[in-house]
Amino acid sequence: MENTPFKYQALFDSNMIGVAATDFNDTILNANTAFLQMIGYTAEDLTNGTLRWSTISPEQYNEADEKKLTELLAHKSIIPFEKEYIHKKGYVIPVLVGAEALEGDARFGVCFALDISTLKENEKRKEAFAAMVSHELRTPLSIIKLSTDILTTLIERGTNTEELIATTEEINLQIDKLNVLITDVLNMSIYHSDDPAFSMSGVDVYETTMRVVQELSIVHNREITFEGEEHVFIQGNVDRLSQVLINLIANAIRYSPVASNINVSLRADTNSIFLSIQDFGIGIASENLEKIFVRFYRINHKDKHKDIGTGIGLYICNEIIKRHRGTLTVSSEIGKGSTFTIEIPRLF
Ligand code: ADP
Repeated sequence: MENTPFKYQALFDSNMIGVAATDFNDTILNANTAFLQMIGYTAEDLTNGTLRWSTISPEQYNEADEKKLTELLAHKSIIPFEKEYIHKKGYVIPVLVGAEALEGDARFGVCFALDISTLKENEKRKEAFAAMVSHELRTPLSIIKLSTDILTTLIERGTNTEELIATTEEINLQIDKLNVLITDVLNMSIYHSDDPAFSMSGVDVYETTMRVVQELSIVHNREITFEGEEHVFIQGNVDRLSQVLINLIANAIRYSPVASNINVSLRADTNSIFLSIQDFGIGIASENLEKIFVRFYRINHKDKHKDIGTGIGLYICNEIIKRHRGTLTVSSEIGKGSTFTIEIPRLF
């Protein structure tokens, strides 16, 4: 801003938010680095005139922009609104834009812009989640209803037990789906309701893991081995840590063949504890290793027994471990299996 007294100079320089100066025509008089980076342009593009408002604003916003400009000239400022800019590489970025006309000079103003891509993506995921939950709740329920009708007819006809068993198995599978879905939705709301239960105290990791492993072995009728160091403690929340273990072991069971081993191990050094859950199941492709921790992300599985879930489990696990100042990582190979490892600072 060489030629104009600029009361937003500090904000302009701080680069916390995109700021651009305008004469309310097509010219962008100046823009800070945050603004330029957001849309992929350089300071040179600005001086040589490559970068203009009409270059970065998609045509469908012309009418709305005109209205905002009238509002700005009349009231000296506008309430921030959402629109899009076109990045130099051609894709559009959702932005939140505000503007203010500078006092004493109605033909000069500043425009503030914030990239809201992450926010918009979360919004989309939430909408998809709501649609998915209502669909996923309805589907198993209709199948259960249909299956019980079939069951009644089969019993009335005195059909053989094989057909009866197949139908009750289908009912069981659908009930499992409902169970997973409801648990995930409940866990999600527990996690988000500023959980008073998230109080921290000394947690005996060996005891906690042993208890979860024993319970899950019984519930899933599956052998889960556990070996590790006793008497290691972290500063944590025993219920939340158990929730993470339950989730990781349930995934290990769900995504591996019935007879294969599930190994849980606990190691510790002077600084940290390392809890690993290893399975010999279907594994995860390397391109998906990071994505599986993203909220609502799921890999599509053809096998109907694996196609249960909401894509929330690992996201919540990761958030809980972060609250323990720890990390949750995974190593995996397609067809060989996966190992999820929790690392948390050791208390003693
Ligand atoms: P959900 O299991 O409800 O889909 P998660 O967040 O627990 O959600 O897991 C996300 C995805 O990660 C799953 O859809 C699955 O494809 C993959 N995944 C998680 N754990 C394992 C595992 N132990 N082995 C193979 N794939 C896994």
